Amino acid sequence: MSTPLGLDPDALNACVACGLCLPHCPTYRVTGREVASPRGRIAAMRAVENDGAPIDDAFRRAMDECVECRGCEAACPSAVPFGRLMEETRAALGPDPSLTRRVASSIAFRLVLPRHGLLMAVTWLAWLGQRLRLVPKRLGLPALSARSLRRPLEVSVGGAPDAWLFTGCVMDAWLRDTHRAATRVMTAAGARVGRPGDGGDCCGALHLHAGRVREARSLARRVVASMPGSAPIVVDSAGCGAAMKEYGDLLDTPEAHSFSARVVDFAQWLAQRPPPRMRTTGRTVVIQDPCHLRHVQRAHTDVRLVLAPAFHIVETADEGLCCGAGGAYALTQPALSARILDRKVAALQAAAGRASDPILVASANPGCMLQLRRAGIDARHPADLLAEALE
Ligand code: SF4
Ligand code: SF4
Repeated sequence: MSTPLGLDPDALNACVACGLCLPHCPTYRVTGREVASPRGRIAAMRAVENDGAPIDDAFRRAMDECVECRGCEAACPSAVPFGRLMEETRAALGPDPSLTRRVASSIAFRLVLPRHGLLMAVTWLAWLGQRLRLVPKRLGLPALSARSLRRPLEVSVGGAPDAWLFTGCVMDAWLRDTHRAATRVMTAAGARVGRPGDGGDCCGALHLHAGRVREARSLARRVVASMPGSAPIVVDSAGCGAAMKEYGDLLDTPEAHSFSARVVDFAQWLAQRPPPRMRTTGRTVVIQDPCHLRHVQRAHTDVRLVLAPAFHIVETADEGLCCGAGGAYALTQPALSARILDRKVAALQAAAGRASDPILVASANPGCMLQLRRAGIDARHPADLLAEALE
Protein backbone atom coordinates (compact mmCIF):
# COMPACT_ATOMS: atom_id res chain seq x y z
CA MET A 1 0.00 0.00 0.00
CA SER A 2 1.45 3.39 -0.92
CA THR A 3 1.92 5.99 1.80
CA PRO A 4 2.00 9.81 1.42
CA LEU A 5 5.81 10.00 1.49
CA GLY A 6 6.67 6.45 0.40
CA LEU A 7 9.32 6.04 3.14
CA ASP A 8 10.79 2.71 4.19
CA PRO A 9 8.86 1.87 7.42
CA ASP A 10 11.88 0.03 8.91
CA ALA A 11 14.07 3.10 8.45
CA LEU A 12 11.39 5.34 9.93
CA ASN A 13 10.69 3.07 12.89
CA ALA A 14 14.39 2.63 13.72
CA CYS A 15 14.32 5.90 15.66
CA VAL A 16 13.80 5.23 19.38
CA ALA A 17 13.51 8.95 20.19
CA CYS A 18 16.54 8.82 22.52
CA GLY A 19 17.59 12.36 21.59
CA LEU A 20 21.31 11.58 21.41
CA CYS A 21 21.43 13.25 17.99
CA LEU A 22 20.07 16.58 19.23
CA PRO A 23 23.39 18.21 20.25
CA HIS A 24 24.78 17.33 16.80
CA CYS A 25 22.00 19.10 14.92
CA PRO A 26 22.88 22.67 13.90
CA THR A 27 19.28 23.79 13.44
CA TYR A 28 18.32 22.48 16.87
CA ARG A 29 21.39 24.12 18.42
CA VAL A 30 20.50 27.57 17.10
CA THR A 31 16.70 27.41 17.50
CA GLY A 32 16.13 25.04 20.46
CA ARG A 33 12.93 23.90 18.72
CA GLU A 34 12.11 20.18 18.83
CA VAL A 35 10.61 20.32 15.33
CA ALA A 36 13.96 21.68 14.09
CA SER A 37 15.76 18.59 15.47
CA PRO A 38 16.27 15.18 13.83
CA ARG A 39 13.96 13.52 16.37
CA GLY A 40 11.28 16.15 15.73
CA ARG A 41 11.61 15.79 11.96
CA ILE A 42 11.31 12.02 12.16
CA ALA A 43 8.24 12.39 14.40
CA ALA A 44 6.71 14.74 11.80
CA MET A 45 7.47 12.24 8.99
CA ARG A 46 5.83 9.45 11.03
CA ALA A 47 2.77 11.57 11.72
CA VAL A 48 2.29 12.12 7.97
CA GLU A 49 3.10 8.52 7.00
CA ASN A 50 1.21 6.66 9.74
CA ASP A 51 -1.34 8.98 11.33
CA GLY A 52 -2.79 10.94 8.44
CA ALA A 53 -1.29 14.30 9.49
CA PRO A 54 -1.51 16.85 6.66
CA ILE A 55 1.45 17.90 4.53
CA ASP A 56 1.08 21.55 5.47
CA ASP A 57 3.35 24.61 5.66
CA ALA A 58 4.65 23.61 9.10
CA PHE A 59 5.68 20.19 7.79
CA ARG A 60 7.35 21.66 4.70
CA ARG A 61 9.17 24.21 6.85
CA ALA A 62 10.51 21.52 9.20
CA MET A 63 11.90 19.64 6.20
CA ASP A 64 13.18 22.74 4.37
CA GLU A 65 15.07 23.94 7.44
CA CYS A 66 17.18 20.76 7.62
CA VAL A 67 20.71 21.43 6.30
CA GLU A 68 21.10 17.72 5.44
CA CYS A 69 24.46 17.76 7.19
CA ARG A 70 23.80 14.21 8.50
CA GLY A 71 25.47 14.99 11.82
CA CYS A 72 22.48 13.20 13.36
CA GLU A 73 23.14 10.08 11.32
CA ALA A 74 26.73 9.80 12.52
CA ALA A 75 25.63 10.28 16.15
CA CYS A 76 22.66 7.89 16.08
CA PRO A 77 23.15 4.61 17.98
CA SER A 78 20.17 3.07 16.16
CA ALA A 79 21.68 3.71 12.71
CA VAL A 80 18.67 5.66 11.44
CA PRO A 81 19.42 6.48 7.77
CA PHE A 82 18.35 10.09 8.19
CA GLY A 83 19.90 11.32 4.94
CA ARG A 84 17.90 8.81 2.90
CA LEU A 85 14.68 9.62 4.79
CA MET A 86 15.16 13.33 4.15
CA GLU A 87 16.04 12.89 0.46
CA GLU A 88 12.98 10.71 -0.08
CA THR A 89 10.74 13.09 1.84
CA ARG A 90 11.92 16.04 -0.25
CA ALA A 91 11.40 14.03 -3.43
CA ALA A 92 7.84 13.17 -2.30
CA LEU A 93 7.07 16.81 -1.44
CA GLY A 94 7.72 17.70 -5.08
CA PRO A 95 8.31 21.16 -6.49
CA ASP A 96 8.47 24.23 -4.25
CA PRO A 97 5.05 25.97 -4.00
CA SER A 98 6.67 29.33 -4.86
CA LEU A 99 6.65 29.91 -8.64
CA THR A 100 9.82 32.06 -8.55
CA ARG A 101 11.75 29.37 -6.69
CA ARG A 102 10.40 26.68 -9.00
CA VAL A 103 11.56 28.54 -12.10
CA ALA A 104 14.95 29.40 -10.54
CA SER A 105 15.62 25.82 -9.47
CA SER A 106 14.52 24.41 -12.84
CA ILE A 107 16.97 26.73 -14.61
CA ALA A 108 19.78 25.87 -12.19
CA PHE A 109 19.23 22.11 -11.87
CA ARG A 110 17.93 21.12 -15.29
CA LEU A 111 19.59 23.62 -17.58
CA VAL A 112 22.81 25.02 -16.16
CA LEU A 113 24.47 22.52 -13.80
CA PRO A 114 24.42 19.54 -16.19
CA ARG A 115 25.74 21.59 -19.15
CA HIS A 116 29.25 22.72 -18.44
CA GLY A 117 29.43 25.06 -21.45
CA LEU A 118 26.34 26.89 -20.22
CA LEU A 119 27.66 27.00 -16.64
CA MET A 120 30.89 28.55 -17.95
CA ALA A 121 28.90 31.13 -19.94
CA VAL A 122 26.93 32.04 -16.78
CA THR A 123 30.22 32.20 -14.86
CA TRP A 124 31.66 34.64 -17.41
CA LEU A 125 28.53 36.80 -17.00
CA ALA A 126 29.04 36.66 -13.23
CA TRP A 127 32.68 37.68 -13.76
CA LEU A 128 31.49 40.69 -15.77
CA GLY A 129 28.92 41.47 -13.06
CA GLN A 130 31.67 41.39 -10.43
CA ARG A 131 33.81 43.82 -12.48
CA LEU A 132 30.81 46.18 -12.71
CA ARG A 133 30.04 45.67 -8.99
CA LEU A 134 26.57 44.32 -9.81
CA VAL A 135 26.87 40.99 -7.95
CA PRO A 136 25.78 41.26 -4.31
CA LYS A 137 28.34 39.87 -1.82
CA ARG A 138 25.64 37.90 0.02
CA LEU A 139 25.44 35.52 -2.97
CA GLY A 140 28.84 34.25 -1.81
CA LEU A 141 30.39 33.95 -5.27
CA PRO A 142 34.19 33.64 -5.12
CA ALA A 143 36.24 36.43 -6.69
CA LEU A 144 36.35 35.16 -10.30
CA SER A 145 39.52 35.62 -12.33
CA ALA A 146 39.48 35.92 -16.13
CA ARG A 147 42.97 34.41 -16.28
CA SER A 148 41.87 31.29 -14.43
CA LEU A 149 38.60 30.99 -16.39
CA ARG A 150 40.45 31.27 -19.74
CA ARG A 151 43.05 28.62 -18.90
CA PRO A 152 41.75 25.07 -19.14
CA LEU A 153 42.91 22.56 -16.57
CA GLU A 154 46.11 21.04 -17.98
CA VAL A 155 45.15 17.42 -17.43
CA SER A 156 44.54 14.86 -20.20
CA VAL A 157 40.95 13.87 -20.81
CA GLY A 158 40.24 10.12 -20.64
CA GLY A 159 43.04 7.65 -21.36
CA ALA A 160 44.29 5.20 -18.75
CA PRO A 161 45.53 7.36 -15.87
CA ASP A 162 46.89 6.17 -12.50
CA ALA A 163 44.15 8.26 -10.88
CA TRP A 164 41.19 10.27 -12.16
CA LEU A 165 40.56 13.75 -10.79
CA PHE A 166 36.80 14.38 -10.86
CA THR A 167 36.37 17.98 -12.02
CA GLY A 168 32.60 18.48 -11.66
CA CYS A 169 30.45 21.53 -12.29
CA VAL A 170 30.68 24.50 -9.89
CA MET A 171 34.12 23.51 -8.64
CA ASP A 172 35.59 23.53 -12.17
CA ALA A 173 33.89 26.82 -13.01
CA TRP A 174 34.55 28.77 -9.81
CA LEU A 175 37.48 27.08 -8.08
CA ARG A 176 39.57 25.66 -10.90
CA ASP A 177 42.76 26.80 -9.17
CA THR A 178 42.02 24.21 -6.48
CA HIS A 179 41.88 21.50 -9.16
CA ARG A 180 45.24 22.82 -10.42
CA ALA A 181 46.67 22.57 -6.91
CA ALA A 182 45.27 19.03 -6.46
CA THR A 183 46.82 18.02 -9.81
CA ARG A 184 50.23 19.44 -8.79
CA VAL A 185 50.17 17.55 -5.49
CA MET A 186 48.99 14.30 -7.12
CA THR A 187 51.70 14.57 -9.79
CA ALA A 188 54.33 15.29 -7.10
CA ALA A 189 53.09 12.13 -5.38
CA GLY A 190 53.97 10.20 -8.55
CA ALA A 191 50.56 9.76 -10.24
CA ARG A 192 49.60 10.26 -13.90
CA VAL A 193 46.37 12.19 -13.52
CA GLY A 194 43.42 12.07 -15.94
CA ARG A 195 40.13 13.94 -16.00
CA PRO A 196 36.73 12.54 -16.99
CA GLY A 197 35.49 12.58 -20.56
CA ASP A 198 31.99 13.56 -21.66
CA GLY A 199 29.36 13.19 -18.96
CA GLY A 200 31.68 13.88 -16.01
CA ASP A 201 30.36 17.42 -15.64
CA CYS A 202 28.07 17.15 -12.65
CA CYS A 203 27.73 14.42 -10.00
CA GLY A 204 24.14 15.29 -9.02
CA ALA A 205 24.92 15.91 -5.32
CA LEU A 206 23.09 19.25 -5.35
CA HIS A 207 20.12 17.60 -7.10
CA LEU A 208 19.94 14.89 -4.43
CA HIS A 209 20.12 17.52 -1.74
CA ALA A 210 17.11 19.23 -3.29
CA GLY A 211 15.14 15.96 -3.56
CA ARG A 212 15.54 15.77 -7.38
CA VAL A 213 16.35 12.07 -7.29
CA ARG A 214 15.45 11.23 -10.91
CA GLU A 215 17.75 13.92 -12.28
CA ALA A 216 20.50 12.85 -9.84
CA ARG A 217 20.24 9.26 -11.11
CA SER A 218 20.56 10.32 -14.72
CA LEU A 219 23.66 12.44 -13.93
CA ALA A 220 25.16 9.60 -11.86
CA ARG A 221 24.86 7.22 -14.84
CA ARG A 222 26.78 9.69 -17.03
CA VAL A 223 29.50 10.15 -14.41
CA VAL A 224 29.95 6.38 -14.01
CA ALA A 225 30.44 6.05 -17.81
CA SER A 226 32.90 8.97 -17.94
CA MET A 227 35.66 7.30 -15.86
CA PRO A 228 36.02 3.67 -16.98
CA GLY A 229 38.63 1.19 -15.76
CA SER A 230 39.81 0.46 -12.26
CA ALA A 231 41.90 3.55 -11.38
CA PRO A 232 40.86 5.41 -8.21
CA ILE A 233 38.55 8.38 -8.64
CA VAL A 234 39.93 11.26 -6.58
CA VAL A 235 37.43 13.91 -5.55
CA ASP A 236 38.48 17.24 -4.06
CA SER A 237 34.93 18.29 -3.14
CA ALA A 238 33.60 16.50 -0.05
CA GLY A 239 29.95 16.92 -1.10
CA CYS A 240 30.56 15.40 -4.56
CA GLY A 241 32.69 12.60 -3.09
CA ALA A 242 29.96 11.70 -0.59
CA ALA A 243 27.33 11.49 -3.34
CA MET A 244 29.61 9.46 -5.62
CA LYS A 245 30.45 7.01 -2.83
CA GLU A 246 26.70 6.38 -2.59
CA TYR A 247 26.06 5.81 -6.32
CA GLY A 248 25.86 2.09 -5.56
CA ASP A 249 22.77 2.68 -3.41
CA LEU A 250 21.37 5.31 -5.77
CA LEU A 251 21.58 3.25 -8.99
CA ASP A 252 21.75 -0.24 -7.51
CA THR A 253 23.71 -1.75 -10.40
CA PRO A 254 26.95 -3.78 -10.20
CA GLU A 255 28.75 -1.04 -12.23
CA ALA A 256 27.63 1.67 -9.82
CA HIS A 257 28.69 -0.37 -6.77
CA SER A 258 32.17 -1.00 -8.18
CA PHE A 259 32.43 2.67 -9.27
CA SER A 260 31.58 3.83 -5.72
CA ALA A 261 34.24 1.54 -4.28
CA ARG A 262 36.86 3.41 -6.39
CA VAL A 263 35.89 6.89 -5.14
CA VAL A 264 38.27 8.49 -2.61
CA ASP A 265 38.60 11.93 -1.14
CA PHE A 266 41.75 13.82 -2.19
CA ALA A 267 43.34 13.63 1.29
CA GLN A 268 42.30 10.00 1.68
CA TRP A 269 44.08 9.13 -1.58
CA LEU A 270 47.20 11.10 -0.66
CA ALA A 271 47.41 9.57 2.82
CA GLN A 272 47.70 6.10 1.26
CA ARG A 273 50.87 6.98 -0.68
CA PRO A 274 54.42 8.06 0.16
CA PRO A 275 54.02 11.83 0.74
CA PRO A 276 55.51 14.29 -1.75
CA ARG A 277 58.45 16.41 -0.51
CA MET A 278 57.17 19.43 1.38
CA ARG A 279 58.70 22.21 3.41
CA THR A 280 57.56 23.05 6.92
CA THR A 281 55.68 26.32 6.61
CA GLY A 282 55.45 27.14 10.34
CA ARG A 283 51.87 28.30 9.77
CA THR A 284 48.92 27.41 11.95
CA VAL A 285 45.83 25.95 10.27
CA VAL A 286 42.48 25.38 11.95
CA ILE A 287 40.70 22.34 10.53
CA GLN A 288 37.05 22.65 9.55
CA ASP A 289 35.52 19.26 8.81
CA PRO A 290 32.91 19.46 6.04
CA CYS A 291 29.86 17.42 7.14
CA HIS A 292 29.97 15.28 4.02
CA LEU A 293 33.58 14.36 4.73
CA ARG A 294 33.12 13.74 8.44
CA HIS A 295 29.59 12.40 8.86
CA VAL A 296 29.03 10.75 5.47
CA GLN A 297 32.43 9.68 4.10
CA ARG A 298 33.93 9.43 7.63
CA ALA A 299 37.30 10.23 6.04
CA HIS A 300 38.14 13.48 7.87
CA THR A 301 41.21 12.25 9.77
CA ASP A 302 43.26 12.02 6.56
CA VAL A 303 43.17 15.80 6.10
CA ARG A 304 45.16 16.11 9.33
CA LEU A 305 47.59 13.38 8.30
CA VAL A 306 48.49 15.01 5.00
CA LEU A 307 48.70 18.58 6.33
CA ALA A 308 50.69 17.74 9.49
CA PRO A 309 54.18 17.61 7.87
CA ALA A 310 53.83 21.20 6.62
CA PHE A 311 51.45 22.96 9.05
CA HIS A 312 50.74 23.29 12.74
CA ILE A 313 47.22 21.92 13.10
CA VAL A 314 44.63 23.01 15.62
CA GLU A 315 41.16 21.60 16.23
CA THR A 316 37.81 23.13 17.06
CA ALA A 317 35.89 21.91 20.12
CA ASP A 318 32.51 21.63 18.38
CA GLU A 319 32.74 18.02 17.18
CA GLY A 320 32.39 18.98 13.54
CA LEU A 321 29.12 20.91 13.86
CA CYS A 322 27.92 22.14 10.45
CA CYS A 323 28.86 25.60 9.07
CA GLY A 324 25.43 26.16 7.48
CA ALA A 325 26.53 25.92 3.82
CA GLY A 326 24.53 22.79 2.82
CA GLY A 327 24.16 22.97 -0.98
CA ALA A 328 22.00 26.04 -1.65
CA TYR A 329 20.97 26.34 2.04
CA ALA A 330 22.67 29.73 2.47
CA LEU A 331 20.41 31.04 -0.32
CA THR A 332 17.18 29.25 0.63
CA GLN A 333 17.47 29.71 4.43
CA PRO A 334 19.70 32.78 4.78
CA ALA A 335 18.75 33.66 8.37
CA LEU A 336 19.27 30.19 9.84
CA SER A 337 22.40 29.66 7.76
CA ALA A 338 23.88 32.90 9.12
CA ARG A 339 23.15 31.90 12.74
CA ILE A 340 24.77 28.50 12.20
CA LEU A 341 27.75 30.20 10.54
CA ASP A 342 28.19 32.56 13.52
CA ARG A 343 28.59 29.55 15.82
CA LYS A 344 31.12 28.00 13.48
CA VAL A 345 33.17 31.19 13.19
CA ALA A 346 33.25 31.50 17.00
CA ALA A 347 34.44 27.87 17.27
CA LEU A 348 37.19 28.43 14.67
CA GLN A 349 38.36 31.61 16.37
CA ALA A 350 38.37 29.94 19.79
CA ALA A 351 40.47 27.09 18.36
CA ALA A 352 42.97 29.55 16.93
CA GLY A 353 43.11 31.22 20.34
CA ARG A 354 42.17 34.66 19.12
CA ALA A 355 38.98 36.44 18.22
CA SER A 356 40.06 39.13 15.82
CA ASP A 357 43.28 38.34 13.91
CA PRO A 358 42.87 36.69 10.52
CA ILE A 359 42.99 32.94 10.84
CA LEU A 360 43.79 30.29 8.24
CA VAL A 361 41.27 27.46 7.91
CA ALA A 362 41.51 24.22 5.92
CA SER A 363 38.20 23.03 4.46
CA ALA A 364 37.84 20.21 1.94
CA ASN A 365 34.51 21.28 0.47
CA PRO A 366 33.86 24.18 -1.91
CA GLY A 367 30.48 25.04 -0.33
CA CYS A 368 32.03 25.32 3.16
CA MET A 369 35.01 27.31 1.84
CA LEU A 370 32.72 29.87 0.24
CA GLN A 371 30.45 30.00 3.29
CA LEU A 372 33.41 30.68 5.62
CA ARG A 373 34.88 33.25 3.24
CA ARG A 374 31.53 35.07 3.39
CA ALA A 375 32.28 35.59 7.09
CA GLY A 376 35.74 36.96 6.30
CA ILE A 377 37.61 33.73 7.14
CA ASP A 378 40.62 32.81 4.99
CA ALA A 379 39.38 29.30 4.13
CA ARG A 380 41.45 27.21 1.73
CA HIS A 381 41.25 23.71 0.40
CA PRO A 382 43.90 21.30 1.77
CA ALA A 383 45.12 20.86 -1.84
CA ASP A 384 45.77 24.63 -2.12
CA LEU A 385 47.70 24.59 1.15
CA LEU A 386 49.74 21.54 0.19
CA ALA A 387 50.58 22.86 -3.29
CA GLU A 388 52.05 25.96 -1.64
CA ALA A 389 54.16 23.80 0.64
CA LEU A 390 55.54 21.57 -2.14
CA GLU A 391 59.31 21.74 -2.55
S1 SF4 B 1 17.55 9.64 15.18
FE1 SF4 B 1 18.78 8.18 16.37
S2 SF4 B 1 19.84 9.45 17.90
FE2 SF4 B 1 18.15 10.69 17.07
S3 SF4 B 1 16.44 10.36 18.45
FE3 SF4 B 1 16.22 8.84 16.81
S4 SF4 B 1 17.30 7.00 17.55
FE4 SF4 B 1 17.94 8.69 18.87
S1 SF4 C 1 20.73 16.42 8.79
FE1 SF4 C 1 21.72 17.97 10.07
S2 SF4 C 1 20.24 19.68 10.13
FE2 SF4 C 1 19.12 17.87 9.38
S3 SF4 C 1 18.22 16.97 11.22
FE3 SF4 C 1 20.20 15.93 10.89
S4 SF4 C 1 21.68 17.08 12.13
FE4 SF4 C 1 19.83 18.38 11.92
